Amino acid sequence: MDISYDSLRAFLAALPDPVFIIAKSGRYAGLFGGADSRYYHDGSHLIGLSLHDVLPADKAEDFLRQIAVCLEEQRLVIFEYGLSGPDVAGLDETRGPTGEIRFQGHLSPFRALVEGEQAVIWVARNITERHLLEEQLRHNSETDPLTGLYNRRRFLTEVTERLNEFQRYGQPASLIMLDIDHFKQINDSFGHQEGDRVICRVCELWRQQLREVDVFARFGGEEFTVLLPHTPLASAAASTERLRTAVEQQGKDDPNRPAPTISLGVGCFVEGDTVDSLIARVDAALYRAKSAGRNRVELQEEPLPA
Ligand code: GH3
Ligand code: MG
Ligand code: MG
Repeated sequence: MDISYDSLRAFLAALPDPVFIIAKSGRYAGLFGGADSRYYHDGSHLIGLSLHDVLPADKAEDFLRQIAVCLEEQRLVIFEYGLSGPDVAGLDETRGPTGEIRFQGHLSPFRALVEGEQAVIWVARNITERHLLEEQLRHNSETDPLTGLYNRRRFLTEVTERLNEFQRYGQPASLIMLDIDHFKQINDSFGHQEGDRVICRVCELWRQQLREVDVFARFGGEEFTVLLPHTPLASAAASTERLRTAVEQQGKDDPNRPAPTISLGVGCFVEGDTVDSLIARVDAALYRAKSAGRNRVELQEEPLPA
C-alpha cells in the first residue's frame, strides 16, 4: 500500500494515545495523537521544552533514567507513573481529565537522530481506571470489611517482613494475640448484629490505644493480633495490660450494653523464630490466659529473649 504524506500525517494525528519523541537530554521533540480530551490534556506546548522545564524534579529525573535505560540497552521499557494537570507546567487544566492520571509509558529507541541527539518514542497510555480497580482489589484482599483492619493474610506478610529485619539487624518486635471472652454468649444473648457492634467498639478502643507504627489486624472471628515494632517484651506487656483494662472499663460505662472482656497472650521475636513458631508461642500464652479464668494477660513461656 502506498502511503501519501497527508495520509501519514492523518494517521499520526489519529493515534489513540499520545506518542512523544523525546531526546536523550529530555527535550520534547515531537507529539502525535492522544486528541481525546476525556483522556488526555493537550501537550503541544511541550515541544521544544525539556522534562526539567515542565515536571517536578523527581519525576523529570525518573523519566530521564527510563530514557537512558531504553537507549543504553536498546530495548522496550515499560513503566507506570502518575501525573496530574498541575504537575505539568503550562498545561491547560480546564481541558482534560481532573485529578491524578495513571499512565503506562512504553518507550522504544528511535532509529534516527533528532537534531543530533539519540531519542525515544514514548507512548503514554491512560490506565487510570484499571489502576483504581487494582488498588481496590488489593485493598479488598488485605482488609477485613467489618472493622477495616488488616486481615490475617496482610498481617502475616507484615510479620514476615519484621521477622526478617529482626534476623538481619536484631530489631526487636513483640506480638499480642487477643480474643474476646465468651463471645458466643454475647451473640446468643444480644444477637449477631450487636455482636458485630461489640467487635467494632473494641477495635475502635484499641485503635486509640495503639501507636501509628503498630500493625493491628483481625486474625479471624473475634480474635485479633497486634505487631509492635521496635518493642521489647516488657513494654509490650505493659501495653497489653492497658488494652485489657480499657475494654473492661468500657464494659462498665454502659449497663445496657454487653460488657465484653478480653484475654491476651503476648510474646516477642526470639532467635531462630519462624512466623509459625512465634504465633504458636503467643497463641499458647493466650490459651493459658483463657484457662486461668479469662480477662487476663499471659506472657510467652521459654524461650525468652537473650
Ligand atoms: P472464649 O472465651 O473461649 O473465647 O469463648 P468464645 O465464645 O468467645 O469462643 P468461641 O470460639 O467458642 O466462639 C466465638 C464466636 O464468635 C463464635 C462465632 O459465631 C462468633 N463470631 C465470629 N465472627 C463473628 C462476627 O464477625 N460477628 C459476630 N457477631 N460473631 C462472630
Ligand atoms: Mg472468644
Ligand atoms: Mg476465638
